[in-house]
Amino acid sequence: MSLERVRKEVVELGRLGRREPVAVHRAEGLDPSKGIFRLEGTRQMTDAREFVLGLMRKAGLEIRFDRVGNMFGRRQGRVSARAVMSGSHLDSVANGGQFDGVVGVVGGLEAVRRLAEEGYPHERPIEIAVFFGEEGSAFGRGAIGSAVLAGMLSQADALNLTDENGTSLRETLRWSGHVGDLEMQLADDVACFVELHVEQGSRLYNTRTRIGVVDRVIGSSWLSIVITGQQNHAGTTPMSERTDALVSAADLILQVKRYAETMARQYDGSAVATVGRLKAFPNAPNVLSETVELGVDVREMVDERMEILMNQILDAVSGLGGRYQVSTEAVVRHKFGVADLSPTVVGTIERCACRLRLTTSRIHSHAGHDAMNLARIVPAGMIFIPSQQGISHSPMEWSDWSDIEAGIRVLTETLKDLSRLE
Ligand SMILES: [Zn+2]
Repeated sequence: MSLERVRKEVVELGRLGRREPVAVHRAEGLDPSKGIFRLEGTRQMTDAREFVLGLMRKAGLEIRFDRVGNMFGRRQGRVSARAVMSGSHLDSVANGGQFDGVVGVVGGLEAVRRLAEEGYPHERPIEIAVFFGEEGSAFGRGAIGSAVLAGMLSQADALNLTDENGTSLRETLRWSGHVGDLEMQLADDVACFVELHVEQGSRLYNTRTRIGVVDRVIGSSWLSIVITGQQNHAGTTPMSERTDALVSAADLILQVKRYAETMARQYDGSAVATVGRLKAFPNAPNVLSETVELGVDVREMVDERMEILMNQILDAVSGLGGRYQVSTEAVVRHKFGVADLSPTVVGTIERCACRLRLTTSRIHSHAGHDAMNLARIVPAGMIFIPSQQGISHSPMEWSDWSDIEAGIRVLTETLKDLSRLE
């Protein structure tokens, strides 16, 4: 049974992705302290790529790598034409979940295998893509591989990105060996793109809807902020004579929260801003902090509102100087505008899901995805399946096997439709 095959592969990728390899077949088997650590550059990632490459080879796909670690498996069509592309990513956040990204990679591969087994005569080639560094957990910015493909980030800038240990993306690829010289030109080589993914929110789950048809992906930005104060003795420095970087960081964190809350209240509730990373130096209880680094993630469903929110946060950063006598520096690490997905692809997905008698709902994605980058060059769409309780980016992330099967069936039908030459 082909769902059994998918289940085995997703579970195996989960096993390979944990620091202590455990195979989790049921939600009851999840452990909040044993998530997926499949960051780019880790052994877990190399294992995952090797595993997926093996599956691609077994499926008879033609495998190619580009210069920034994107991996492609192609099944030729009856005619030589621009391909229909599907796929997602294999990397995870630290202590992440078993389904994020993986469902789109294994699901895309499974769709192609089903077409082959059925002997379906698709006209366009079908290309399964595994995009490099979608989560941004290793190299400080998200959706790296798809950003290069879409021409939003140069190959050189991507290769020069470094991880926390100072290892460059270039060195990481050299070490892992998953690199080649393919120069894919999206506009010339790809007709359209469709990505299967878990929703990572609770809307489908709460409304018992089987398939989410995504028509828009939220805009997102990352800010790196450094606040510099004066390191001093926690006992001998009177409260009135302190330049404590950590205290001003605490103030900033609350301001970020307030600005996002106000904007969310004022509009559709999509505005969110998160300080998810804080690094104090020297980070000792008896020492006033010299520097604090903060990582801020800002998202909005409308570009103009995102701009306002970003400016409010940047103003708050510069305002710290006057109030706390600290110096500040803010760098925008990445900025992805709102991406509207293609009405044609969206409509095709919807039709296919209806044909399969699955309940659907038009939905905005509140998480960023590779599809948002590809959508800037080629018509793109996304198929969401429910995430149990809406939990994601967590070891407790779960999607039902029956929902994964439903997603794959919709994807398979969608690929059939999209692979027809107009
Ligand atoms: Zn993802």
